[in-house]
Amino acid sequence: MEPLVDTVVIGAGIAGLSAAWELQRRGLTVSVLERTPRAGGVILSERFDGWVIDGGPDSLLVQKPAGVALCHELGLGDRLHPTLTPRTAYVLRGGRLHPIVEGSFLGFPLSARALATSSLFTWPGKLRMGLEVLVPRRTDNEDEALGAFVARRFGREAAEYLADPLLAGIHAGDADRLSARALFPRLVAAESRHGSVLRAFRTVRGPASPDGAFVSLPGGIGELTDRLEAALMPGTLRLSTPVTRLHHDGAFVVSTDAESIRAKAVIAAVPAYAAAALLGELSPDASRLCAEVPYASTATVALGYRRSQVSHPLSGTGFVVPRRERCPILAGTWVSSKWPGRAPDGCVLLRAFVGGGRDPEGFARPDEELVSVAHDALARVLHISGPPLFSRLYRWERRSPQFEVGHLDRMAAIERHLAAVPGLFVAGSGFRSIGIPDCVADAREAAARAAAHTAASVPARS
Ligand SMILES: Cc1cc2nc3c(=O)[nH]c(=O)nc-3n(C[C@H](O)[C@H](O)[C@H](O)COP(=O)(O)OP(=O)(O)OC[C@H]3O[C@@H](n4cnc5c(N)ncnc54)[C@H](O)[C@@H]3O)c2cc1C
Repeated sequence: MEPLVDTVVIGAGIAGLSAAWELQRRGLTVSVLERTPRAGGVILSERFDGWVIDGGPDSLLVQKPAGVALCHELGLGDRLHPTLTPRTAYVLRGGRLHPIVEGSFLGFPLSARALATSSLFTWPGKLRMGLEVLVPRRTDNEDEALGAFVARRFGREAAEYLADPLLAGIHAGDADRLSARALFPRLVAAESRHGSVLRAFRTVRGPASPDGAFVSLPGGIGELTDRLEAALMPGTLRLSTPVTRLHHDGAFVVSTDAESIRAKAVIAAVPAYAAAALLGELSPDASRLCAEVPYASTATVALGYRRSQVSHPLSGTGFVVPRRERCPILAGTWVSSKWPGRAPDGCVLLRAFVGGGRDPEGFARPDEELVSVAHDALARVLHISGPPLFSRLYRWERRSPQFEVGHLDRMAAIERHLAAVPGLFVAGSGFRSIGIPDCVADAREAAARAAAHTAASVPARS
């Protein structure tokens, strides 16, 4: 007879690892099965010759405390550090970089002074943005695309130069398809409660933290998943172990090519399409809905240069690229200006992002072409002479879930169907979470529910 554990966690990204950690803390037996030879999912940090490179995420948002709290719990609290100053981010317009002025929230200048001093917008555009306070609030409760929301309240220019590159860009998505309510609920709530986004944030927003909004770790965000992996009891995590089938015969049966494990509860912490492939026998309806969650693919190109090769002062964190600019990258990060200790003395580390929901063909380019497209785009904007010292390419195929209009309704329906299969949970970025802190919180919550189910369930045969 197959072994029986309290819970099997499928997937060892940050969500799966966090769920396993929470289950272990609660004294439950747990097995984590990961398809690839490496834990961490899209979190991947490389260190060599004085360079520290994040191939995927590079920061934790402090305002959502679950990521930072987990670092403290794992003894990494003292290693967290804020971004370097100045923290200015830029938007490319007309081939030039325009700063997002101080006194902005999500890029929207909150004060008349901030609006007046912004070089990003034309005067008619600024006037239209300032008139946001007079735009009547929407009365229906329908979900709305992010681009449509921003265009309606702030005008077309704000939609093209803020919503598209900055707000949708964070999610590698298309502003005309992403859901405002799912991704920026505070903007939607500001309109419905205060009648105006500007009015709401002028009144309710406290002073910005002197330490900025983001933190990271000296060895990259991969330190967090490395530490989580090390904190799990030996034998908990099995790498190169894809789950191929999930069914129930008195207990859950989780099958890989080599064996089957019986479990009282299962947490699928995998992309929604991977969950769809596993849920078919237990909940065909949830499986069908999971399969509908769209995903985008992005590539991160990391490039190292000697400082003397780059004419631009790189004084800030980087820039985003509106679609109208017809530039082949989505954004560029000045990694060594954003974080300390990322490049050897006299060198700079840059990252460019290609692809996303806006440019699927960009991701499809061959490796060498992707690297040269990224270098050429950065060289044009930042006046870089000569080739990079090295390049690294990280491909994230179908790893950015797109919370498009209707996502929250779909998610609610998935939850309803899963409720009919007690002990079965989904967690991670394809479902309710955006970013690492949300994934951690969501996975720990799923683990708490799995623990409650396990405690209440009659022992299955073993
Ligand atoms: C390029 C990029 C930059 C980002 N930047 C940031 C940032 O700076 N800050 C931030 O907070 N967030 C950022 N994010 C988002 C954040 O990284 C993700 O939301 C989060 O890491 C997702 O974690 P996850 O565990 O849900 O999924 P994943 O990391 O995708 O992990 C899922 C795991 O499941 C495994 N799996 C799949 N199928 C199976 C199967 N059948 N059996 C076993 N295992 C399986 C996969 O191999 C994978 O390891 C970024 C994302 C990307 C792609």
